[in-house]
Amino acid sequence: MSFQPALFREYDTDNVFARILRFELPCQKIYEDGWALAFYDIQPKASIHILVIPKGPYCDASHFHQVATSEEILGFYKACEAVVKDQGLYKRGYRAASHCGTEAGQEVFHFHVHLMSGAPL
Ligand code: AMP
Repeated sequence: MSFQPALFREYDTDNVFARILRFELPCQKIYEDGWALAFYDIQPKASIHILVIPKGPYCDASHFHQVATSEEILGFYKACEAVVKDQGLYKRGYRAASHCGTEAGQEVFHFHVHLMSGAPL
């Protein structure tokens, strides 16, 4: 089966999460390793609302899944799971979600996974 990568939007190096990665903006950091950074969402939609972002320049989930290396993808999702474990989310139950594109409600065009737990899920 041949695989044709989609045409992606241009990555904006001045998006908020890129600026957090460059230490130009603060964040409430929860976890960091070579592949990912996790921090609290500034406008939480649940009692626990964490964002996990890869360190590489990817606009959204599809861009990341199609263009990132297998190492980056594995490292990123292992980091998500480390956050889930460290924060006790697996015990409580949690939602992992990613908005891809403006029609899906994406506002920041640096790929991120929302980890939400607690009321009002
Ligand atoms: P999305 O709609 O999936 O693009 O979600 C972007 C999320 O980023 C929203 O939930 C915002 O509240 C959150 N957000 C925006 N700016 C910041 C920031 N400086 N620090 C932490 N979270 C942010």
